[in-house]
Amino acid sequence: MTVSGLATPYGFQSFPNYTAGRQGNSINKIVIHHMATTDYDSVPGIWNSRQASAHYGIGKNGEIRAYVDEDNTAWHAGDWNANLTSIGIEHCNINGAPTYDIAQATVEASAKLVADIANRYGLGLVVPGKNLFPHSDFTSTACPGQLRGKLQEIADRANAINAGGNYVPSQSAPTSTSQPTASSSTGKTYIDNFKNGGDRFVLQGTMVNNHTELQNGIYQSEIDELTADPFDWTDNGIPTKLLDDLSDPAGRSFNDGATVRFKAEYQRGTIDKYLPNVGDNGAVGIDFLDGNGIIWFDAKKFWEHA
Ligand SMILES: [Zn+2]
Repeated sequence: MTVSGLATPYGFQSFPNYTAGRQGNSINKIVIHHMATTDYDSVPGIWNSRQASAHYGIGKNGEIRAYVDEDNTAWHAGDWNANLTSIGIEHCNINGAPTYDIAQATVEASAKLVADIANRYGLGLVVPGKNLFPHSDFTSTACPGQLRGKLQEIADRANAINAGGNYVPSQSAPTSTSQPTASSSTGKTYIDNFKNGGDRFVLQGTMVNNHTELQNGIYQSEIDELTADPFDWTDNGIPTKLLDDLSDPAGRSFNDGATVRFKAEYQRGTIDKYLPNVGDNGAVGIDFLDGNGIIWFDAKKFWEHA
């Protein structure tokens, strides 16, 4: 039996509508569905009367439930060959028609589960259309609704998880739990890493706030684990409005030594400029607020940060 360690069995195979085994096929894809209901607990009971099933379901708060053993074939894609070669994931909606919205917590849990599955089956980099599909790619259906537009986000987050926080969006990059690209100590290499990855970055980890000051009319943080040397408030200060203060989320006091993190909307994006000759490693510049000015980071620190 194979069930993700992220999932809790719920109504596990308590319905008839799945097929034992995979008929000799191996798993090479993940199919994304939405439940078209806000009633998370109604699944999988509904599959007693409906000719359908899926391996996993994700709730509004990100809880992951397992309904069918991955070693068995769930009936979810509307395409028998796709069923035999895939794992199906249902996602609970937070409201009904016409928008059938999906909570961000559900998307994030989905990325974790997708990362886990991709890792265990050696699917490599998660790429929509290659190994991650919306239900609607296999049959005429409105499923997965809003999630059809979120497959790239799920893939990006899953790849970031499997790359240890740093994602190089290249189809040739191997899935690995270690750094996806060999890095030397030269700035050119770290900058090349970003360039080879389409100038994209993911930085989701927590950081220590060394110091916060009102500078140039805005509150800014000095964060040594990211900043290029020598530190300068104009070039390297990070506006606190880009950050969450995890040590004081209500007060946002940004005390010295506080644990901080980029707000979710700033955890991924595009490197806007490179300065290969700054410091030992070169610098990468990001204009987080488009037009508000570039913040410069040490290329190695930024690349290696989770
Ligand atoms: Zn579906």
